[in-house]
Amino acid sequence: MTESGKPWQEHEVLKRKIKGITLLLEKQYGIPRKEGAGDFLGILIETILSQNTNDQNRDRAYQRLRSRFPRWDNILSAKTRSIVSAIRPGGLAEQKAKRIQEILRWIKDSRGKLSLSFLKGMDSEEIKELIGGLKGVGPKTVHCLLLFGLGREAFPVDTHILRIGKRVGFIPETLNAMKAHAWMSPLVPKGKSLSLHLNLIRFGRSVCTARHPQCKDCFLAEECLYPSQ
Ligand code: SF4
Repeated sequence: MTESGKPWQEHEVLKRKIKGITLLLEKQYGIPRKEGAGDFLGILIETILSQNTNDQNRDRAYQRLRSRFPRWDNILSAKTRSIVSAIRPGGLAEQKAKRIQEILRWIKDSRGKLSLSFLKGMDSEEIKELIGGLKGVGPKTVHCLLLFGLGREAFPVDTHILRIGKRVGFIPETLNAMKAHAWMSPLVPKGKSLSLHLNLIRFGRSVCTARHPQCKDCFLAEECLYPSQ
């Protein structure tokens, strides 16, 4: 397997490495529990709000949006500027408000109601094509929908996972988040998408942080390419 002409570790070696990391994370943090069945639209909108911001600002934006507009219909019929005002804490508010209303409009026009429950009857590749083809919906959003909404095998790559993957050496330096989704899909141990995703995020928030990674106390240091960062 090569990436941009650079020699890259063999697929099987990488799979073993990722399996080992999954187990080390589970040993440290446990196996995260599955949340209840997903509110598909909520997950979709929340993930759109998460673009280019942190979890705290995303949550504030989402809570404000849902408290001002409790029904999806309310969001669709509202003036865009009211949506912008509600989601302002999440950043890029104009762009995100427009996208959210466009997506709700598309769902209503194509399905007759504001629900994504029809996705349950589709296979994951069809969903990636259909939902991933919508403006403003990237692979992270689609993978979140598949993993958290539908409980499918899917591995969303956020900024924490991209950063850790490059430091530890299971994502090539040259890949952006968009391409990292296709890269990771065949490497994640079967049935471990949720565990690895949530535990890596926890690890990225507490140990392998963006600015001050705690390398001296890191339980993944032996796996890491840059343990002295
Ligand atoms: S050793 Fe440092 S850079 Fe490597 S994974 Fe641990 S905290 Fe991150």
